[in-house]
Amino acid sequence: MDEFDLIRRHFLGLTPASADVVLGIGDDCALVRVPPGSELAVTTDSLVAGRHFPPATAPYDIGWKSLAVSLSDLAAMGAQPRWFTLALTLEQADPAWLAEFARGLRDLAVQHGIALVGGDTTRGPLNINITAMGLVPAGQALRRDGAKVDDVVCVTGTLGDAACALRDWQSGAAEPAAEMFARLNRPVPRVAAGLALRGLAHAAIDLSDGLAGDLSHILAASGVGAVIEAERLPTSPEFLARGLAPAARLHSQLSGGDDYELCVCLPHGRLASAHAALDVPLTVIGRIVAAPGLRVVDGAGATIPVPPHGYRHFE
Ligand code: ADP
Ligand code: MG
Repeated sequence: MDEFDLIRRHFLGLTPASADVVLGIGDDCALVRVPPGSELAVTTDSLVAGRHFPPATAPYDIGWKSLAVSLSDLAAMGAQPRWFTLALTLEQADPAWLAEFARGLRDLAVQHGIALVGGDTTRGPLNINITAMGLVPAGQALRRDGAKVDDVVCVTGTLGDAACALRDWQSGAAEPAAEMFARLNRPVPRVAAGLALRGLAHAAIDLSDGLAGDLSHILAASGVGAVIEAERLPTSPEFLARGLAPAARLHSQLSGGDDYELCVCLPHGRLASAHAALDVPLTVIGRIVAAPGLRVVDGAGATIPVPPHGYRHFE
């Protein structure tokens, strides 16, 4: 099987035909139609074996997660997913592995109506790079630089499940609960929530590297600070049942990665509208203040030292 057989067999026709794809896989470039009045939101991410997922990860999950991380970025901008390309580097062309990888990719792509329009296929250490594109009405994207003093800081869903599952899986200390394992391997990008928050949120970011580090990006871009109440961090029943010591729990929820929830800042007066518009729980965890930096407080208002920031390459 050469590279062209592989593309034909596994990726040509992976996603349903889409009216806004003028030309898909098979030429030097894809051609897509961007409607007038829309801006194109573009994001790219690489997943490297052993760095972004353990080598033992199921190929279905690798396919799913590769696209999920890009959809999460589109969600954080309030963009409607439309098109993606796939640059795949493989040690070998294993048809069983490729079929499962493609199935995971397709299942999530079909759910979100995003079309595979091209890519690149090469040999080397396993690496998956996806560039995803979405549409947002001009001027309406959710950015990191719009948070204002007195905004409430909110997060969707729950925090810490994926980080806890990863630690349990890698250390062999405990069998991760199925729900938490799924949070790690098949994250659900908050696309509908991102779209619903357009016109409501002042700022948004998706949580890939841990709340503390990711929220700090909003604070720096917006020139503000935040006070977060540790006891308000939303926690799943499975995470609670894991019975972590308070410091380990806080570490997973503030500095663990792979949550793929949204963190948003909005005026208090828009909270009711946001709750009504969202298909996922939204929890207020703190507020934006003028003093720069992130402060985490306990139930009594005392400052808790923030655990080290999220994962950084080349540190
Ligand atoms: P080129 O030499 O012009 O870069 P390639 O030989 O790399 O073209 O790819 C041939 C066609 O197949 C192109 O349209 C490209 O977008 C598509 N393609 C290559 N690899 C993939 C892949 N993994 N998934 C989807 N499309 C792919
Ligand atoms: Mg090429």
